[in-house]
Formats: sequence, C-alpha cells, structure tokens
Amino acid sequence: MLTMPIPDIILKSIYELKPEKLSEMGIKLLLMDLDNTLDKYHAKFPTVRLRNWIDGMKRAGIEPFIYSNSHGDRAERFANSLSIEYVNKASKPNVKRLFELLKEKNVSPENTAIIGDQIYTDILCGKKGGILTIAITPIDMTNPFHLFRYGAELPFRYAYKRRDKMKEKKD
Ligand SMILES: [Mg+2]
Repeated sequence: MLTMPIPDIILKSIYELKPEKLSEMGIKLLLMDLDNTLDKYHAKFPTVRLRNWIDGMKRAGIEPFIYSNSHGDRAERFANSLSIEYVNKASKPNVKRLFELLKEKNVSPENTAIIGDQIYTDILCGKKGGILTIAITPIDMTNPFHLFRYGAELPFRYAYKRRDKMKEKKD
C-alpha cells in the first residue's frame, strides 16, 4: 500500500516542540533524527540549548532517543553526551528496526513519535510505523543537494498546510 508522507505536525525547529504537549498526547518515546534536526551535519557535540531541551523531555517522562540513518560515531557521541540511547544506520524509511525497537522498549506505536527534517525518510518511516510524525525545517540548507531535496518535499509540506487550514475552518 502506498503511504502518503504528510506529517501530523510541522514545526520550524525542535525547540517549538513542548514536552507538555507530547505528554498530553500520550507520547512516551520520542525518536529523533540527528542530522539537520538536532544539529547541523558536522556538529561535534550538543549545544547547551539542545541539552536543556532534552532534559525537559526527560523531566516530562518522555524518553528522547536518537534514531539516525548516519554511519560513523556521531550518533553515539551525541547520545552519550546527552545520556540517552541511540540507533544509527536505522535505514529509515524502512520500519524493520523501528518495530524491533518498539518491541525492545515495550512501547506501542500510539505512545511513540518521530521528529525529523526529511519527509522521505523520517516522516515516511513514522507513517509506515503508525507513530506520530513531526517534521521540522532542516537547520542548514547551504548544501545545494539538501536544498534540492527540500524542494522535492514541498508538496507534502503544502498538503499539511492545506489540511490544517481545512481543520481550522471546520473548528
Ligand atoms: Mg536529517
């Protein structure tokens, strides 16, 4: 079946995502993309701002978890530095690892969310997995390839806006 990767929520950055809001929605596990979501591609260590945001999630009883397609040791370094767990080489949008992880954690899809900057990997993975999907604007688009990819994702970001407007009219 074809899954339409229209995000459930679109925000400008992770910092617009409030722990209270996620708690209200029953989210217990927050899967977070790393590159261009938590930080720029070549950032070595988490910033103080990121650290505080992660701590806020933990205080609200939400487990922040790095779920990254990256190879190398960045995910591990970030995770260790933030005292959280991680998966790298996750192969998003493939959901095999996602379902394994939910089983390991004993968390249901209804209590899980994913946040990321890419529609065709992060959001599609979340949709296929039946979890809450939150898209953000990529932190850095100076790389022409990233800009091109972002352009290719725009129809789904517009579809979200349209749906949101229709919802507003109904309410
Ligand atoms: Mg990314």
